[in-house]
Amino acid sequence: MDLRSAVDAGWSRQLALLRELVRAPSTLGNELAAQEIVAEELRSIGLEPLLWDVDPSAPGASPPLIPYAGRPNVTARLAGSGGGRSLTFNGHIDVVPATPEHRWSYDPWGAEVEGGRMFGRGAADMKAGIVAMLGAVRALRDVGLRGDVLVETVIEEECTGNGAAACRARCPRTDAALIPEPFNHAAMEAQVGVLWARLTVHGKAAHAERADQAVNAVMAALPVIERIKALEAEVNREPRSRWFASHSHPLNYNVGVIQGGDWASSVPEECVLEVRIAADVDADLDEVMARFEAAVRVPVEWRGFRAHGFGLERSSSIFDVLGRAHWAVHESEMEWLAFTGTTDARAFVVHEGVPATCYGPIGGNLHAPDEWVDLESVRETTHVLALAAAEWCA
Ligand SMILES: [Zn+2]
Repeated sequence: MDLRSAVDAGWSRQLALLRELVRAPSTLGNELAAQEIVAEELRSIGLEPLLWDVDPSAPGASPPLIPYAGRPNVTARLAGSGGGRSLTFNGHIDVVPATPEHRWSYDPWGAEVEGGRMFGRGAADMKAGIVAMLGAVRALRDVGLRGDVLVETVIEEECTGNGAAACRARCPRTDAALIPEPFNHAAMEAQVGVLWARLTVHGKAAHAERADQAVNAVMAALPVIERIKALEAEVNREPRSRWFASHSHPLNYNVGVIQGGDWASSVPEECVLEVRIAADVDADLDEVMARFEAAVRVPVEWRGFRAHGFGLERSSSIFDVLGRAHWAVHESEMEWLAFTGTTDARAFVVHEGVPATCYGPIGGNLHAPDEWVDLESVRETTHVLALAAAEWCA
């Protein structure tokens, strides 16, 4: 059977696997069940997956949020006959929360299919991509590649990147890496840096009957938020790297969590803000952090992402191979993406010096209610990944 036919032969199995993975809610701390599904699929392909806990002291790791026991990465190797270039397929198993679930039109963990789309948290970001890369590996099994194909599904892409960082410290270095994030069949050529900050605004609690004599921490947080937004506007007015030069607003400062108070008749003593900030590819993260701390003028704790950005040259040979595979499937030129978020590609590019890019299916409503993935695009992505790996590792 040729490679394209082998991909098509596995499609119904891929669909069933995607459904199963979406129905395993792998939010932070709850990744194990989904990882065991991946491991079982790798075994059925004939590989020997390893499940191992993440060491957060790897180079390029971010300050951790929670302990790592029982939340494994999964890695496996499709051995080549020797001599060819090697490739890593990387995907993240973790998904962001689906709350508030009542805002969804579909069960966020139901994997419902309608109009060629599957709905669910993580359906697009990025369980569909994981299913695509596993489908590609299954189709590649009997091709007789010379180079190795390594497969890894990692935890914490959405908060620290420590799953991918731990893989770099433990797994063999390969000649390139592909990550099937749901980027609509475009090849990612750059991504911004990302930092997570936790701000604590202090007040002076009291019974609400004397609120006029107390300090309400929630109200005190409002000018802090205004200072964050003012800094965001300032940094977006400054000169940028060529990858983001024409982007209207690449550096988003997002107040993602606000927690303050516990009782309507109590003046809040404390208000906590969790903020995601971004930096251009060549920014010095320590400088970005110092500038932020000076602007907000309240205590800041840096936990979660400490992620450098990067840009890759389009002349990198992984793009040639990927572009040919894209053309073979789509009969169109591959498009380019400068991503205003972060991905685990930085673990390869920044911390290992390995060319890595993201290329994956079409999806929408990422990190929002009614996340969906276009199923035909998952099938097409599987073809592209299989063809790219077959050429790269030939
Ligand atoms: Zn993702």
